Amino acid sequence: MNPTPKFKHLETLAIHAGHHIDPSSGAVMAPINLSTTFERKADGSYTDENVYSRSNNPNRRALEECLAALEGGATAAAFASGMAATMSLFQALKTGDHVVGPDDVYFGTGRLAQELFGVWGLDYTIVDMTDLDQVRQALRPNTQVVWVETPSNPLLKITDIAAVSSLAHQVGARCVVDNTWPSPVCQQPLLQGADIVMHSTTKYLGGHSDLVGGALIARQNDLFFQRIRMIQQLGGAVPSPFDCWLLRRSITTLPYRMRGHCENALKVARFLATQPGVTAVHYPGLESHPGFAIAQKQMSSFGGMLSIQVPGGASDALAVANQVKLFTQATSLGGVESLIEHRYSVEGPTSRTPANLLRLSIGLENAEDLIADLAQALSH
Ligand SMILES: *Cc1c(COP(=O)(O)O)cnc(C)c1O
Repeated sequence: MNPTPKFKHLETLAIHAGHHIDPSSGAVMAPINLSTTFERKADGSYTDENVYSRSNNPNRRALEECLAALEGGATAAAFASGMAATMSLFQALKTGDHVVGPDDVYFGTGRLAQELFGVWGLDYTIVDMTDLDQVRQALRPNTQVVWVETPSNPLLKITDIAAVSSLAHQVGARCVVDNTWPSPVCQQPLLQGADIVMHSTTKYLGGHSDLVGGALIARQNDLFFQRIRMIQQLGGAVPSPFDCWLLRRSITTLPYRMRGHCENALKVARFLATQPGVTAVHYPGLESHPGFAIAQKQMSSFGGMLSIQVPGGASDALAVANQVKLFTQATSLGGVESLIEHRYSVEGPTSRTPANLLRLSIGLENAEDLIADLAQALSH
């Protein structure tokens, strides 16, 4: 048999990485392996190191190999949700360690820091991650993780991954990037100096709003990542074989779906920027965005997420959300269908999100239909 050649293009990796013809049946598409337990042979060995499904199983291994390849990493660990991945990363730290995180961050990540870091004895400093001086000043000898989310949620702020990674490395800390919004198609943080990538695979990787999952992918399989692997296997926040299979199936079309999301989002953003009923459009693909130059340097395209601000306050933003017909008012993102959300009323009184902001997940419908829907909603 010829060895599998190494491919580097994402379209090819999305289909072939971690994918094998099933040796027992010849099935071209991988079967779902539901068995929780695997045969121990007379000599004490196991087939492909499959022992017990919490520790490992064929569907999870195929998914992890694929995720590692897509991000250019050495290894990956799949989890039952994005938050389980984030939790596992911070559980790998020890009491007294220090974390630097951004002011604009996924709401659940911010709450995790607020509710649990104190109890765990982790120190935490919040900075505007787009300001490198603030990052530099926040770093300490005991800083272990600098957490980056770019584009950020929900303001689409852009952080320079290469610059923050090199600052983190100066004090021996790791740069961890939540790459959920851009997906590896638009941005590959490990290739720019980051150490670990986190994903909520619930979003673009899953792509169809029908599964919850998460992942951590590392540039090196070092002692820290081995600790994360131990927490994955021992803590047990693992995805089911069915979810791994479903996710692996979705990833085959990820590069093509992302092209549609990015193309549509840019058209919608350009339209919204011309509207008097919109006071701000936050999309890193617009030349007017303050992070445009850095986005151009580190992203190959600008993703399917954007947010807008409308004149007035919460009730004015909600009025627009209540007028759209094609967009569905719902949380989450990254599915084929377009969603709109008023984050401020979802996040509640501790929200840092502007009250007049609407977050849009641009789907794969025709861009003209999406624009017509927003135009009629804004003209009310
Ligand atoms: C959704 C999301 C998460 C959390 O992932 P879950 O799969 O919901 O647990 C983390 N970060 C970002 C940017 C997200 O959009």
